[in-house]
Amino acid sequence: MKYISTRDNSPSPASLSAAEAIKRGLASDGGLFIPAEIPALTHGDMEKLLDMDYAERAAYILSLFLTDYDKAALAEDCAKAYAADRFPGGAAPLHPIADGIHSLELWHGPTCAFKDMALQIMPRLLSRALKMTGEEKTAYILVATSGDTGKAALEGYKDVDGVKMVVFYPDEGVSRMQKMQMTTQEGSNVYVAAVEGNFDDAQSGVKAIFSDAELAKKAEEAGFFFSSANSINWGRLVPQVVYYVSAYCDLLKNGTIRNGDEIVVCVPTGNFGNIFAAYIAREMGLPIGHMVCASNANNVLTDFIETGVYDKTREFHKTMSPSMDILISSNLERLLYKLCGADVTKDLMAALNKDGKYTVPAEIMEKLRAVFSGYYLTEEETADVIKSTFADHGYLVDPHTAVGLGCVHKYRAASGDNRPVVLASTASPYKFAADVCASLDIDTDGMEIEEILHTLAEKTDTEIPAPLLRTLTLPVRFTEVVKPCEMAAVPFRH
Ligand SMILES: *Cc1c(COP(=O)(O)O)cnc(C)c1O
Repeated sequence: MKYISTRDNSPSPASLSAAEAIKRGLASDGGLFIPAEIPALTHGDMEKLLDMDYAERAAYILSLFLTDYDKAALAEDCAKAYAADRFPGGAAPLHPIADGIHSLELWHGPTCAFKDMALQIMPRLLSRALKMTGEEKTAYILVATSGDTGKAALEGYKDVDGVKMVVFYPDEGVSRMQKMQMTTQEGSNVYVAAVEGNFDDAQSGVKAIFSDAELAKKAEEAGFFFSSANSINWGRLVPQVVYYVSAYCDLLKNGTIRNGDEIVVCVPTGNFGNIFAAYIAREMGLPIGHMVCASNANNVLTDFIETGVYDKTREFHKTMSPSMDILISSNLERLLYKLCGADVTKDLMAALNKDGKYTVPAEIMEKLRAVFSGYYLTEEETADVIKSTFADHGYLVDPHTAVGLGCVHKYRAASGDNRPVVLASTASPYKFAADVCASLDIDTDGMEIEEILHTLAEKTDTEIPAPLLRTLTLPVRFTEVVKPCEMAAVPFRH
């Protein structure tokens, strides 16, 4: 399996092994790596996957994409990454909410958000990639986070040999718990800095460092090279394909569907990574009939799917689902590449850089809309979903998952499509306890975060995840705040 850049429009695009693609993170032309072809998931594959546990399913799917990796090594890595000590509540259990809507709970890992699903395995994939490619320099991983990636990456990469990492988060753009999780991070090879600005500022800053040839040279002289842990890195995206396949297997096993029945997948979306992983699963042949792209008040994707115009030049809203407060959805580039090839993609990305917007030709949009619908929820609607889901079904959802669920309702009402839905539940409600409490009319005014967590647990008869309780006991290690223009200096100082 070879990997090519979404922006390489030469007659014979340069191709890399999976190990090289994972090591580099981003192509040197600024494009994202994508497999030259998508492996098929046959009927026979599904039969085999059915009786496997999550780690075995993961190793099986990963080996279809990472053909240069040793199969036994992948099995060993997956077994460790998805073990019960890391995911005490199961790696990706399905919880039926009501009316054929199934919550795919992706937040039972060490940092209580779905990012763990990829970031518990990705460091192992990178470590092997460094060995496989004979790399002797240190991989310096730069992460821009809207809140959850940062902590999950820190937790996955802490004290990993041959790797250093700095995480940049928007100073005022993350929840209190998210900030606390990052600033108290342990590990000798990691650093955390806040950035003045929003997530897009942080992400643009990181992308600028990646595409700066002079910085690359300076890094080489200092004995390291830059790499990424964001969903622009294929090593981050490919483990996310697994849980959609796994969810389908679980629905088959529990008799909800028969093999071949189509399901609908809904994903609360920011950078378009998680939903793109579902699209890859569909391309492999998983029977996903339709996909719902759910957004919050930052509804750039909803508008794009409706009009064909992607326009990031708009007001930025801070919402209670901060991990989706994103106006530049990087992974949309991979979808555009799949739909219209490198030539058009390159032009669209150049337009985005220059004008902050681009228009996708109508015939391409038709293809896109055959697969994707876009909906969004206001803050008020999000709070209503949290409240009614708990009142009607006794199920507590975080604000991101609530956005997804509300969009499922809107999609069903508009389309009449009542096929079973797999809803990606992306975070534990306890990461956003203050907003969840407010949505449930639980007063937390003046309370410290610890008290808020305990209040939520008491009022809803649910359990505080152990890793969050532990975070509360740790000292703050990182307090630096930098301007976007100062970001490039940080990896040379720490
Ligand atoms: C990162 C994140 C999202 C958005 O996922 P993308 O892959 O960026 O689209 C949604 N919800 C939560 C809780 C997240 O952490």
